[in-house]
Formats: sequence, structure tokens, C-alpha cells
Amino acid sequence: MTLGSIEPRAYSEQEIQLFTSIGNQIGIAIENARLYQDQEETNRQLQVAIAHAQQMAEKAEVANIAKSEFLANMSHEIRTPMNGVIGMTGLLLGTELNPEQREFTEIIRTSADALLALINDILDYSKIEAGKFDLEIIDFDLRVALEEVCDLVAANAQKKGLEFVNMIDQEVPSLFRGDPGRLRQILVNLSGNAVKFTEKGEVTIRVSLDHENTTHATLRFSVSDTGIGIPQDRMDRLFKSFSQVDSSTTRKYGGTGLGLTISKQLVEMMGGRIAVASEQGQGSEFWFTAVFEKQPEGQEKRIFVSEDIRAKRILIVDDNATNRYVLSELLKSWQCRFGEASSGAQALKELRRGLVAKDPYEIAVLDMQMPEMDGETLGKKIKQDPDLKNVILILMTSMGERGDANRVKEVGFSVYLTKPVKQSLLYDSLVTVSGTYMQEETPNKRPEEIITRHSLAEDQKRRMRILLAEDNVVNQKVALSILKKLGYSADVAANGKEAVKALAATAYDFVLMDCQMPQMDGFEATRKIRKKERQTGGHIPIVALTAHAMAGDREKCLAAGMDEYLSKPINAAELLRIMEKLTPIEKAEKKPSAPSKGAETSLRAVFDLSRAMDLVGGDQDLFKEIVGLFLDNLPDHIAQIQAGITHNDAHAVEQAAHALKGSVSNFSAQAAFEAAYRLELLGKEGTLAAAKRAFSELKRAFGELEVAMKETLREE
Ligand code: ADP
Repeated sequence: MTLGSIEPRAYSEQEIQLFTSIGNQIGIAIENARLYQDQEETNRQLQVAIAHAQQMAEKAEVANIAKSEFLANMSHEIRTPMNGVIGMTGLLLGTELNPEQREFTEIIRTSADALLALINDILDYSKIEAGKFDLEIIDFDLRVALEEVCDLVAANAQKKGLEFVNMIDQEVPSLFRGDPGRLRQILVNLSGNAVKFTEKGEVTIRVSLDHENTTHATLRFSVSDTGIGIPQDRMDRLFKSFSQVDSSTTRKYGGTGLGLTISKQLVEMMGGRIAVASEQGQGSEFWFTAVFEKQPEGQEKRIFVSEDIRAKRILIVDDNATNRYVLSELLKSWQCRFGEASSGAQALKELRRGLVAKDPYEIAVLDMQMPEMDGETLGKKIKQDPDLKNVILILMTSMGERGDANRVKEVGFSVYLTKPVKQSLLYDSLVTVSGTYMQEETPNKRPEEIITRHSLAEDQKRRMRILLAEDNVVNQKVALSILKKLGYSADVAANGKEAVKALAATAYDFVLMDCQMPQMDGFEATRKIRKKERQTGGHIPIVALTAHAMAGDREKCLAAGMDEYLSKPINAAELLRIMEKLTPIEKAEKKPSAPSKGAETSLRAVFDLSRAMDLVGGDQDLFKEIVGLFLDNLPDHIAQIQAGITHNDAHAVEQAAHALKGSVSNFSAQAAFEAAYRLELLGKEGTLAAAKRAFSELKRAFGELEVAMKETLREE
């Protein structure tokens, strides 16, 4: 943040003193003139006084510039080390710490966050006061902005055991132009206060449409709580700078009393107004309006609702009425058929009623924290009931209880979501479990074949020399392991250049060539190899390895001179089929695999263990090794992407995301794979503007994957 020159609206005391002294001097000069009746002397004295006044004014101007420069510098100078403190504390928390060290470090982090927030407030305030504050006008998605607010506030709410609910009325459009950062700031401020001043109950953010025309919409944002409330006679003071309801509150809750003042000013800049309604001891509602320009017609994405979930009958179970309302609104908007229950007992009744009516519920979304019978107990009861056990269970739980995934999985939950539930995640989960459900109904639909080492013609294989050109270590390991499983061994080249060199030195029988590699990619290497073959004769089979099956990829590979095309993650059976086709080895016997682990490995939303296992031929040790390698390399990959974003280097982001995508492609981890792919595409397009969000999404997806993988490793 740079501050331009700041012109004070009111003169400082010093300045007033200064002007008074100038005035006095002028007065004295006039007095002298009157006394001496000497025109010349008067003129002279007046001139001296004017010169003096000019000098003073210049000094004041210099002081002003110095003040704004000082503020700008201070902003920068304080933030730089603060970012260092916060960033390094984050890194430190990522290392192995004993509980005491962890606690101390957490305290450093929360204190640093608080300090930074304070600095930001003071700087914002002085900037607004100086009239040097401009709103940004950029395209943004309101629903995304709101989810980001929830991410920031939900954890604190849940720590205090509060329900935290957010809802956007269905008719509110998503795509606007305006300053999402400042909108977030107001909402974080208000909901932060709501959480701070509420000991039990709930905090709700609700967005509704005030009115709209073809180009603009006025939105109404409301943040309500069930907290201590505000006495009637204090309400008018609330939006004034540095004012707090009372000093004992200040001591108990802390704060500067600047949040609401800044919020009010921001709201007014957004063409709206802010107000509060409150009853002491009952709670408060802060609401504000803001006018946003709508993005041009046609940009609004139509939500595509999968047939899968429209057909399903879903039961919502939550004791909290607001939560049920939010969920039912979502399900309505997706045209799902649903019912509601406010307790475990009622849920069981409703599920049975569905059976009797021959319209059974297929999915139940259960809240974990319910009085009498909690979500987990209810889940157990459902799974133990022979008539109900096929109901697919989704658990919603507070963030603090993440570690329970394993236990919950054993009960038979297919998915668990943390609250407040994000629209997109709930949707994805429903689609995923709907798919699972279909698969379970028709278990014979996926006749996957797996090759065992005994089924192969040993001798011939040992004689075959294979070159693997692949830059990504995890992929190298996976490919080598699969080859080993099939009874082969291979040499590795880390890029196209090395591959060309290796082929010149050794007579290989077969090449597996990654397409995208640093220095020289697979296409160029193949062209070079083929060119050489035209002089020396011969034709070595080259099989392309690509990360995603894009239309046109196959043509591109064949055009470069490759013989076949294999998309990652490498499937052992497919690889063998291609090798058989391209090299004269004996046909191997195939043996059908054991039924895949399937449902009990669950948590499909994160990664599909059974499919990942299949890819390594069901070898648990190998799987563990690969997962270990993947996890070891993960921080580096993520740091590289981060560095790319920080330095605004789209190419670096593309490369690093591509590598990460390649590694994760071995585990059928859909969300993580897609997150990496998204960043790769952003890097490719050179549009890093959206990369920050994509990156936080990626970190989340990989964080979840890491947790799930570690759990799996512990279980095995
Ligand atoms: P801060 O919270 O930093 O002191 P604010 O300007 O955000 O400053 O709030 C000013 C005061 O308004 C608070 O100190 C508190 O006394 C009162 N207040 C704000 N929000 C609430 C709320 N949701 N419930 C009760 N009191 C509130």
C-alpha cells in the first residue's frame, strides 16, 4: 500500500500555534505602523511577516509530505517483517514440534496475526481519513468471496462451539464487479465481532437481493448473532472512531474500536449504508447494503446439475433449524428430492417411513453435533439396521474434529464434510456418492484385470532392455515398479536430451517417453531419434506417456514418430498390452484380480485407494513406498508452485503444477489432480490473476490427500 501525499482536513495544534504566531507578527507590524505612522517601515515589516508566513507554509507542506511518506514507509516497513514472522511461523508449524513448542508457536502466530490486523486497521483508517482511499474494481464471484470469509471466521466460531451458517438467497446473482477484498474485510469485521461477542448459539451471514436493474444490483448483507447484544443508549456511538460499548467490555474482549468505523466508511464508498438492530442479552444484527455492477450478461454460469443427484432421495438430519434451512435451499436449487429430520430418533422414523412408502431415502446427510443422539451414533444405528444399511451416509462435522476420519469411516460414512459446508463440496460429494451407489448396485460392471509376475514369460523379459524417459521422480518410481512387477527392468533418463544420448550409447528394445520434460520434451526427442534412425536404419518402439488424455494428443504423439500412447496413471495391463503389441514377446497369461477393496476404503472424494492399489498390481509394500515418496516430494512441489506465483512466473507455475499433477495421477485423487491441472492451465495461459485462489484450493486438496494417505499407511 502506498500512500500519496496526505492533506489534513484540520490543522494540527502545532500548525495553529504557528499561524497564530504569524498572525501576531502581522498584528505587531500593523500596530507598529499605526504607532510610527511610517508607511515605509510598515511595508517593510509586512513584507518580513509575509516572507515568514511563506516560509512557515513551506515548512508545513514539507511536514505534510514527510508525514504521508512516513506512513507509507511505516506500512511497508512494519508489514515486511510481519510477513516474515507470520510466514516463518507457518513454516515452523509445518515441521515436527513437540506439543509445548507447537503451543508456543501457535501463540506467536495468533499474536502476529492480531498485530498485523491492528496495523492494517490503523493504516486503513488514516488513509480513509486523508481521503486517499480508493476501491478496486475487478470482476469477482460473490459466492467465492463469501466462502473465503467463512474460511476465515468458521474456525474461531467452532472453537467456541457456535454454529456458523452462511446463506445466499437463490436469486442473488454471483458475478459482479467491485472490490471483493474490501467486501470481505467488512464481512470479516462484522462476523468476527459477532463471534467475539457471542458465547453460545449461532452466527449467521445472509445475503439477499435488495433490488436490481439490468446493470446493477443492491445487495443486503446481514450478520446476526445470539450474543451479548448492545444497550440501546450505546448504539449511536458504535460507528464512531475508537468507540467501544464500555471499557469493561474492552478489557474482556480487546479490540481498537476501529472495525465498525472502517466498515461504515467502506460501505458508504460502496454506495450503501450500515445499521444495527440489537437487544441486550439476545443478540445483534448488523446489516449493510452495497451496490455492485453486474458482469455483462451471458457470463453467469448456468449450474449444471447432474442427473445422478436429481434422482436421489436425500434426508437432512440436523437439530439446528438454520442449518436445515440452508441445506434444504441448496438441495432445492439442485432439484433434489429431500426430507428433513431434527433429531436422530426422527431421522430413523423418517427413513423407515420412506421404506414403507416404497420411496426409500438413498442418501442421508447427518450433522455430528446433535443432542441426545449424535450423528455418529445415528450412523451406526442406520448401518446396523438390515433394512437401512444401504443408505449412503454423509457426516457434517466441525473443523476441530478432523482427526476422527478413521473412526467415522469404520462406522460406514462415505464422506465427511466440515462445516460450514461449502456448496461446491456438498455438490461434489453428492455426485461422487451417487456414482458409488451405482457401482455398488452393479458390482460386476468393472472387470479389472491384473497381471501377476507369475503370469509372464520370465526369460524373454529379462533380455529386453527398456529406457524410461521421465523427469518426475514419483512417476519414475511408479513406472519402474510397474515394469518390475511385470518382470522387466529399465534405465532412466531424466529428460529428452538424456534419452537421445542413452539411445546412442545402448541398444534398447523399447522406450517409454514422457511428453513434457524440461530441456528437451518427448516430442522433440522422438523426432531426433527417428531422424537418426533414417540414417542408421531400424525402428525402436517408442510409447508416449502423457498426463491427460486430451483430444489431439494422440495425433501429436504419432506425428512426432511415437508408436503408441499411454496416459498416466500407467495401467499395468494396458502397458503390457502395448508391449506385447510392439515387441515380439510371448503372450502372458492373465489372471483376474481379487475383488477390489471398494466400499470400505471409502473417502472416495479424496482418493480412490482401490484404484490406486490396482495400478500397482495390488502390491501393498510397493504402494506404501510410492505413497512415501510422493509425500516426501510434496512440500517441494508445492513450494515451487508458490515461488512461481510469488515471482509472477507463469511458466514456472505451469511446470511445477504439471509435475505435481503427474505425481498425483498415480493415486486416482480426483480433486487434487484437478487442482494441479487447473494451476497448470492457468500457468499455460499466463493468467496468474486467478492462481492465488487456485493455489489455496490446491493446498487444501493436497492437505486432505496427505491426511488420507497417512491414515491409509497407518491402517495398512
Ligand atoms: P473492536 O471490536 O475492535 O473494539 P469495532 O468497531 O468492531 O471495534 O466494535 C466496536 C464495539 O462495538 C465493540 O467493542 C463492541 O463493544 C461493540 N460490538 C460490535 N459488534 C458487536 C456484537 N456483534 N455484539 C455486541 N457488541 C458488539
